[in-house]
Amino acid sequence: MAARMNVPDSLERRLRELLGEAAVLTAREDLLAYAFDGTAALRQLPRVAVFARTSTQVAQVLRLAREAGVPVVTRGSGTGLSGGSVPVPGALVLCLVEMDRILEVDTRNLTLRAEAGVITQQIYDAADAVGLFYPPDPGSMKVSTIGGNVAENSGGLRGLKYGVTRDYVMGMEVVLADGSICWLGNKCVKDVAGYSLRDLFIGSEGTLGVITQVLLKLLPRPAARATLLATFERMDAAAATVSAIIAAKIIPCTLEFLDRRTIRCVEDFAHVGLPTDAAALLLVETDGHPAAVADEIARIEDLCRGHGATTLKRAADAAEAARLATARRSAFSALARLRPTTILEDVTVPRSELAAMIRFVEEIAEKHRLEIATFGHFGDGNLHPTILTDERDAAEMHRVEEALKEIFAKALELGGTITGEHGVGLAKRGALRQQMGDASYTLLRQIKRALDPQGLLNPGKVFSAAEGTEHPTSNTEHPTSNTEHPASNG
Ligand SMILES: Cc1cc2nc3c(=O)[nH]c(=O)nc-3n(C[C@H](O)[C@H](O)[C@H](O)COP(=O)(O)OP(=O)(O)OC[C@H]3O[C@@H](n4cnc5c(N)ncnc54)[C@H](O)[C@@H]3O)c2cc1C
Repeated sequence: MAARMNVPDSLERRLRELLGEAAVLTAREDLLAYAFDGTAALRQLPRVAVFARTSTQVAQVLRLAREAGVPVVTRGSGTGLSGGSVPVPGALVLCLVEMDRILEVDTRNLTLRAEAGVITQQIYDAADAVGLFYPPDPGSMKVSTIGGNVAENSGGLRGLKYGVTRDYVMGMEVVLADGSICWLGNKCVKDVAGYSLRDLFIGSEGTLGVITQVLLKLLPRPAARATLLATFERMDAAAATVSAIIAAKIIPCTLEFLDRRTIRCVEDFAHVGLPTDAAALLLVETDGHPAAVADEIARIEDLCRGHGATTLKRAADAAEAARLATARRSAFSALARLRPTTILEDVTVPRSELAAMIRFVEEIAEKHRLEIATFGHFGDGNLHPTILTDERDAAEMHRVEEALKEIFAKALELGGTITGEHGVGLAKRGALRQQMGDASYTLLRQIKRALDPQGLLNPGKVFSAAEGTEHPTSNTEHPTSNTEHPASNG
C-alpha cells in the first residue's frame, strides 16, 4: 500500500481505531481508484476511503462522519453509469465490497439473504446451485454488487419478462444517516403493514441510507431456454417485429437489439459470426416449460420471417446460446475501444415509440456531427444511445451536451424517461425536475430532508447541491477535479 498522506485529523484516527489500519485509505495513490465510477468524464478524489465489514461498523462510520460533518458516498463496485459513487469534495467513501457473504438460501420460502457487497453473479450462482433462479442480470453482473443493484434498481437483459431488481427485493437492512440500523420487509409474500419503506430505498442511489443486507425473492429455474438471432435490412422492420411479437401475446425473457454500427463493432471484438451488413439485429430468448418454449420460439421465428428478417439463427445448444448472448453483453466494451470517451445513455420510451426514438437519435448524430451507436433492451423500450467521443475536445463535448439535452427532451416528449436503469446520479440531475414536474420534485426533496436532515448522504446526487440539502464541503485540501458531466444540466 502506498505511503500515507499527512492528514493529521481525528476523524482519520478514529476510523483507523474502528476499522483497523488496512481498512482506511488516505494516500492519494490509493484514493485514485475511488475517484470515479463507470461514467465518462467524472472524477473527484475523496478525502478518505474506508472498508466496513459489518453493519455495526457502517453505523459507527456514519456516526463519526456525522460528528465531523463529512459527507459519505457509499460505494459498491463503482460500475455505476450516472456518477452515483463519484465522491463529492471532502467526502468519505464507504466501500461495502468486503461485506460479501451470502447468509442464507431458504429453499422452503424461495429467498436468499446476502450482505450488500456480494457480487450479482454470485447471487445468481448460489440460486442456480439449488435449482432456483435470480433473474435480474445487468450487463455488469460479474462485477457489480447486489447493494449497488438495489441502490440503482438495476435492470438487465431479462427485464421484459422478469422485471428489474425492485421486483425481487423482499426486505433489507438499512443504516440511516444517524447510525440507527433498521430492517425493512420480511419473507411474507403478502405484507401491507405500514408504508412500503423498502421501496423508498430501492433506487435511492445512496442518498437516503446505506443498504447493508438484502433479502431476495427467487424463482424456480426455468426448465428450458431457446435463443434466436435475427437480422434485418431496415431498423423499422426490426422495430415492427418487436411490436408483432408482443402483440402475439408472447413475452420473451430477452428481446435485445443492436444497430449497424454496434453489430460491426461487436463482431470485430467478439468474432461470433454476426452478419456485418445488417442494419439491425434482434437477440431473442424465451424460457419456461419445454413445450411452451418450443412453441414460442417457432412463432417468433415465423414473425421475424414475416417481417423480412434476412438471417435467422437458432442456438443449437446452451454453449451457442451463451456465445450469442455474449455478442450483446460485449456491446459496451466493444464500442468503448473506438474513441477515448464513451458516454452510454439509457433513455427509455414506451415500446410503441421505439422506432421514432431511434430515428431521432440518428438525426441528432448527424445534426451535431457525432458518432452515436445504439443498442439496448428493445422489449423494454430501453435504449442505449452510446456517444463515442473525446473528453479532451471541448468543442466536441459541447456538441455532446447539446445532443444529450435534445435526446432527453425527445424521450420525455414521447412519454418516456431520462433513465431506465442507470439512475440520475450526477449526470442527469439537471433533467430530473423536467421529467417529474414541480410537485413530485418537491416531494422527493422533502423525503431526502426527512431522512438525511444534514444532507451528508451522497450530497449533490439526484438533486444539484443547491437544490438538495446543504452539506459542509469545507474540506477541500485534497486535489479536486472537474465533476461536471457533459450531460449535466445541473
Ligand atoms: C459494462 C457495464 C454494463 C452495465 N450494464 C447494466 C445493465 O445492464 N443494467 C443496469 O441497470 N446497469 C448496468 N450498468 C450500471 C451499473 O453496473 C449498475 O448501476 C450497478 O447496479 C452498480 O453497482 P455497483 O456495485 O457497481 O454500484 P456503485 O457504482 O458503486 O454505486 C452505484 C450507486 O449506488 C449507491 N450504492 C452502492 N451500494 C450501496 C449500498 N449498499 N447502499 C446504498 N447505496 C449504495 C452508490 O452511492 C451510487 O449512488 C452497467 C455498467 C457497466 C460498466
